[in-house]
Amino acid sequence: MGGLLISLSDNVNILEHMCDTLTSVDPPAGESALIERIAELERMKSAAAAGQARAAAALDAARRAAEADSGVPAARRGRGVANEIALARRDSPARGGRHLGFAKALVHEMPHTLLALESGALSEWRATLIVRESACLQIEDRRALDAELCGDPAGLDGMGDARVAAAAKAIAYRLDPHAVVDRAAKAENERTVTIRPAPDTMTYLTALLPVAQGVSVYAALRRQADLRGDGRSRGQVMADTLVERVTGREAAVPAPIGVNLVLSDETLLGGDSTPADISGYGPIPAAVARAMVASAVVDRRSRATLRRLYAHPRTGALVAMESRARLFPRALAAFIEFRDQRCRTPYCDAPIRHRDHAQPWARGGSTTAHNGLGSCERCNYAKEAGGWRVSTNIDETHTHTAEFITPTGCRYRSGAPPRAPAITVSDVEVRVGVALARHAA
Ligand SMILES: [Zn+2]
Repeated sequence: MGGLLISLSDNVNILEHMCDTLTSVDPPAGESALIERIAELERMKSAAAAGQARAAAALDAARRAAEADSGVPAARRGRGVANEIALARRDSPARGGRHLGFAKALVHEMPHTLLALESGALSEWRATLIVRESACLQIEDRRALDAELCGDPAGLDGMGDARVAAAAKAIAYRLDPHAVVDRAAKAENERTVTIRPAPDTMTYLTALLPVAQGVSVYAALRRQADLRGDGRSRGQVMADTLVERVTGREAAVPAPIGVNLVLSDETLLGGDSTPADISGYGPIPAAVARAMVASAVVDRRSRATLRRLYAHPRTGALVAMESRARLFPRALAAFIEFRDQRCRTPYCDAPIRHRDHAQPWARGGSTTAHNGLGSCERCNYAKEAGGWRVSTNIDETHTHTAEFITPTGCRYRSGAPPRAPAITVSDVEVRVGVALARHAA
């Protein structure tokens, strides 16, 4: 802060005072004063976003300079910075990466967009849209787009998200039509399939495809729907056809292929309504889990394994797993996955890809549930950057906790998600089929 000498405790006081000022509202001030207040706070949100962008770009530059001084190879400099920004913003590492890319583009290449954000003419999201649409351009063209669209912030007045994005796209296309086409070709590499929960125990299965493939899949499903005549709706026929063609099974037999289900034996065998949990999806109602198991039992093609997961009687925290598998590490990996459910970095939520040693194996860390941590690929990679430390513990509620210490010395803590506290007996993992055989035995 130019020329001002402020001690740390002064800084904390100033921040607290600012927060008090920001959150105080005076209802008797009248309606127009309240509207004025809302507009004013919106401007401050934009200004805060601009301040975060400047700080993020400065952190990245400082870290890279320090790493260059200590001889870190160029390709490895700045690794993990996005994850630190994510933790500080209570956001996922994937978003942290976007925040940092956005910050560097604004601060180093798009001064007009940054100013428009600072003054409140743009929201953080609209500034992000402009950066995104200009990402495919060479730096001179990006600067030209920045000046043309945001040089006069008054021109942004009244423009909504879609218009801002369209204006940026139109300028980018005019400046460098080839870059936009090249970007379309590159985007094909991003094709993927993802899954996320929908309300009422449904799920969204989303495919991101090149437009030709996406359209042909959709057309094939519609063609099938045109042939229907059995009382199902078009949407139902299309969904059933999708399931049949992808899994090779009739949609009416809802047997999951290799779906891991975690549930208490009370839920499985009794009428208990404690939710079950599908690995990689989340909780499902007890009755739905029972129906999945029952329908799988009549399907001879279901291969099955059974494992007990021991939950702490009071807290429901998963504390151990009986291992019947021959390869212990595999059973351990499965246990860590059931216990952690998702990447253990705070706010991350990504699916587990690695069973990580908190204390690295090379430095004497053991291959145990205690030292193990479910981690996504990105977080696992970030933690390998210099200055990160992770330690694990079991707290007084028997919950497995992990503490992440970043290169700047910030500490963040994550606990394994609690299982339903109602569970007092061992949990049972069912790769459906054998569970009921065990019951019969
Ligand atoms: Zn992660």
